[in-house]
Amino acid sequence: MPVPNPSPPSTPTPPTTGGPPAGAGPLPLDLPPLELPPLELPPLDEVLAALHVVRLPLTVRFRGVTEREAVILTGPREHAEFSPFLEYDDAEAAAWLRCALEAGWHGFPAPRRAEIPVNATVPAVAPDAVASVLARYGSAGPHTVKVKVAERGQTLHDDVARLAEVRRLAPSAALRVDANGGWGHREALSALEALAGFGLQYAEQPVPGVEPLAELRAELVRRGLPVPIAADEAVRKETDPLAVARLGAADVIVIKAQPLGGVRAALAIVAASGLPAVVSSALDTSVGTRAGAALAAALPELPYACGLGTVALFGEDVAEDRYMPRNGALDLRRVAADPELLERHRAAAERRAWWVGRVRRCYEQLVNSPSPAVQADAPK
Ligand SMILES: [Mg+2]
Repeated sequence: MPVPNPSPPSTPTPPTTGGPPAGAGPLPLDLPPLELPPLELPPLDEVLAALHVVRLPLTVRFRGVTEREAVILTGPREHAEFSPFLEYDDAEAAAWLRCALEAGWHGFPAPRRAEIPVNATVPAVAPDAVASVLARYGSAGPHTVKVKVAERGQTLHDDVARLAEVRRLAPSAALRVDANGGWGHREALSALEALAGFGLQYAEQPVPGVEPLAELRAELVRRGLPVPIAADEAVRKETDPLAVARLGAADVIVIKAQPLGGVRAALAIVAASGLPAVVSSALDTSVGTRAGAALAAALPELPYACGLGTVALFGEDVAEDRYMPRNGALDLRRVAADPELLERHRAAAERRAWWVGRVRRCYEQLVNSPSPAVQADAPK
């Protein structure tokens, strides 16, 4: 099928010298070492006394599971969530606990805005399923749509057809694509060449890793292809959260409160990177999503809609008044876990014991190295 081209953002200019144009290319940055704000830990006994373990059904299969386990802490300041994925080791999960302890015992930093714009997400579905996905976002339609691409077993033709249908149904929405690192360098170039005509806001993690992202971005600049690059997995899976900025690998970073060690740590990472940030969830319950909203609310600039509309992926939740966007935005309000729902979705005793063990070990990691993200960072 032809590539629909409603309003090409610009005509690609052919390369002239073979190198990135001076001043416009993704040049490596010389950034100062990252310093994260310290966190005073509450006593472990207090943490364990505030701990609830829940098991919640999802409406879709995600990372191979249809249920999500989470620890909810009823802290003195806020209710907080600790929900690293089950396969993560303690060193990685400790950053998630740091986020929960910060929220629960220290609260959130002062917000700069009262509403967080949130994007719609279209999974890698067939074109005829796009309308029903977009219909969930209300009659006015979403203002920003993220479209999943590069799905295993699909082709570029499928991606183009899906984008075309989204563009047809949401003619004025900002569009972005997320490949989750599913393309190789050449594939990404031909895909972004084909998709650029949709006027993409940005392409999220077209290739895996930081260096491949930097190479791709340099090549896009060389070819004059007007597709900004966002780094997602490359930010939180790297031991150095600033590697993306150092290598000039992206125009935008996607950040999550739990994997980056909390709201204040994530704010420090954004400030040090000098890049615009989009806040996303880690498939959190309403309680964890509130921490993401706190991060988005505290950022000095929030130029893009955030990926915080994921509570709808849960069939059940821990909050009575679920924390979901209305008219494309989350309002900044208090989110509390409901005691009756914590009880109703309580995990089995052996799962609770497993999570208590995990909290104890991660807490120990935090005592020994209070800033997990920075400890792994060690920029030279
Ligand atoms: Mg992503």
